[in-house]
Amino acid sequence: MPDSGGGALQAEILSIGTELLLGEIVDTNAQYVSSRLRDIGVNVYRRVTVGDNPERLLSAFQDSIGRSDIVIATGGLGPTDDDVTARCLASALGRGLCFDEDAWNSMRQSYLRRGRTLDEGSLSARKQAFIVEGGFFIPNPVGTAPGQGIMVDGKLILLLPGPPSEMRPMFENHAIPLITKSFSSLTPIYCVNLNIVGLGESQVAEALADLLGGSNPTVAPYADSGQVRLRIAAQSADKNEALSRISGVEKEVRRRLGHHVYGKNEETLEMAIGRLLARRGLTLAVAESVTGGLICHRITGVPGSSKYFKMGMVAYHPEVKISTLGLPPGVVHREGSVNEEVASGMAESVRLLAGATLGLATTGFAGPDGGTCNEPVGAVYMGLSHKKAGTITEKAIFSGSRDRIKVFAAQRALYLLYHFLIEPGKNRG
Ligand code: AMP
Ligand code: MG
Repeated sequence: MPDSGGGALQAEILSIGTELLLGEIVDTNAQYVSSRLRDIGVNVYRRVTVGDNPERLLSAFQDSIGRSDIVIATGGLGPTDDDVTARCLASALGRGLCFDEDAWNSMRQSYLRRGRTLDEGSLSARKQAFIVEGGFFIPNPVGTAPGQGIMVDGKLILLLPGPPSEMRPMFENHAIPLITKSFSSLTPIYCVNLNIVGLGESQVAEALADLLGGSNPTVAPYADSGQVRLRIAAQSADKNEALSRISGVEKEVRRRLGHHVYGKNEETLEMAIGRLLARRGLTLAVAESVTGGLICHRITGVPGSSKYFKMGMVAYHPEVKISTLGLPPGVVHREGSVNEEVASGMAESVRLLAGATLGLATTGFAGPDGGTCNEPVGAVYMGLSHKKAGTITEKAIFSGSRDRIKVFAAQRALYLLYHFLIEPGKNRG
């Protein structure tokens, strides 16, 4: 029996695949399904991960169906012997599997769309068209394996394929409408994420302490690769009411945190920078050492960046810093090229080389080896040069893996640039 007992609707996500347990792939399906269920007001109470093992999958289905109103399973719907999801669900419900002509027909159409012909006699292909007795099939517009679902004793169970590119459109086009149609009591949750840079999670929490205690909307910060995201979520049957609650809190957060809030939802720091550069008619050049191209990659990930991004280079080897950027050898060889003069020299030289208004540069030790007596692994200098305002530098020390240090250094350098664009007159505090 469901333990919702007249309370909130409970959902559970079942991620199926041995590769998930082995850590070979990240379970992005569960994250996606969680966030979309949240959007429509369904509480996810549990996520379960099971390998492609029939006994354990059968018992996982029995447990999940026993305690939840909605069970969304992904993975294990393919043609091979290790794809056992439909069979296990059938056993868990004490039902059989039936060949479904509509599912088979939709597979035929999928093959045709790809210019292939479905082998009508192939047992492994036909296996994918078997659905649990009393259930229904869900078409797969991207791949071939159909999904399926069944409503049993007021509970909805959906099986979707593992590949995210197939699962997502099926979830959007079929699962969400099915869920909202099947459970009329849903109160949707609306949410906005504010993206914050230049403040740590605890600084944000301190500045917003009184707001974090609220219940509708709820306000929660979480750290995300050198920045903080603040989720503001309101629940109401009336969309306008929820949005107005959110916007009241959003205004207050922006008032308190000022320029640290650089964007909203999917907006990235490089998008905010691009907008500022474009609006002010400025151009940018980048010389990267420790970040190895990450900054250029992010800048050029923004559509239209060719309007303001002039050039980028990875000046990695000391000789290149001397020969291409014209830095003095004495400066380049000091502290393994990790010093303030290298950062400022790189920023200025690349700006002049490109004929840009602004030059941004990084140099540092990403580890795990390296570092000097004065400069440890994780030490990074960033330089920002402006045609008229001159050159500023900043030093930061990051910790963790090589990848983490690079990602955090790129983020901090972009923040240096963002901060300059917001308040060009001021030095960073
Ligand atoms: P399957 O439907 O089990 O054959 O899964 C096929 C492929 O989909 C896997 O090899 C993964 O690459 C991907 N996949 C399966 N489950 C997930 C998941 N939970 N999150 C992200 N990708 C997944
Ligand atoms: Mg699989």
